[in-house]
Amino acid sequence: MQLVRFLSEQKVHYGIQQGSSIKEVADPGEDWHKASFSETGKVFDHKAVKLLAPCRPDKVVCVGLNYREHAAEVKAAVPDKPIIFLKPSTAVIGPEEAIVLPPQSRRVDYEAELAVVMGRRAHRVGAERALDYVFGYTCGNDVTARDLQPPGGQWTYAKGFDTFCPLGPAINTEIADPEALPVKGILNGKVVQAGNTAEHLFSVAELIEFISHCMTLLPGDVILTGTPVGIGPLSPGDTFGVDIHGIGRLSNYVESQGDLGEG
Ligand code: MG
Repeated sequence: MQLVRFLSEQKVHYGIQQGSSIKEVADPGEDWHKASFSETGKVFDHKAVKLLAPCRPDKVVCVGLNYREHAAEVKAAVPDKPIIFLKPSTAVIGPEEAIVLPPQSRRVDYEAELAVVMGRRAHRVGAERALDYVFGYTCGNDVTARDLQPPGGQWTYAKGFDTFCPLGPAINTEIADPEALPVKGILNGKVVQAGNTAEHLFSVAELIEFISHCMTLLPGDVILTGTPVGIGPLSPGDTFGVDIHGIGRLSNYVESQGDLGEG
């Protein structure tokens, strides 16, 4: 199924997307097992609702330098263990919302990535069982203030600004193999990143093992699995899309904080 979260008449709903309609399902609460999404019988027109980020993560765990060619383009060594950092939940936005460029930065980059959505509480889970803990997969953009990202660490500041974690549009729960997915980044209609998760240095299963031996992953938590080669800057007025086969396209536009004033 393709699970979406959406706003209709000021209320938040969950639903299963089927073509141009969305079948509402009951709010799963803390229970993100596939079987816990029961249909309410209500159907919404896709065009009449506003899609939101498809889950509300307690934490977004990001993986740096998980593609060899991307490590080369930023002149970094290929890591021998996963490099992880966190984005706060306040960075998360949904499809068609604005990525806001903060005044502290002179260069903010896009990073198209596969996002893993956890379905079960995962604590010290081995790689061989790790995919049993996954609910599904969506598109993510690890937006990064590149000029504020020191090479040796402290990436949370550069990557943790409000709006720096677009997610969506839907969570696909049917993907059996997350290591064979074409990932595209599309800037103003032009493909600028075209990778495949087959190039992951650390697989989704290995990442879950590594991360869950440090911190417990909760249902709805997200892992951003790293970006392929082709990163570049965003400017006010740009539109950036993350396209993953079988999931759809996450599209966001770009604004400058200067356009918005305080508040
Ligand atoms: Mg990244």
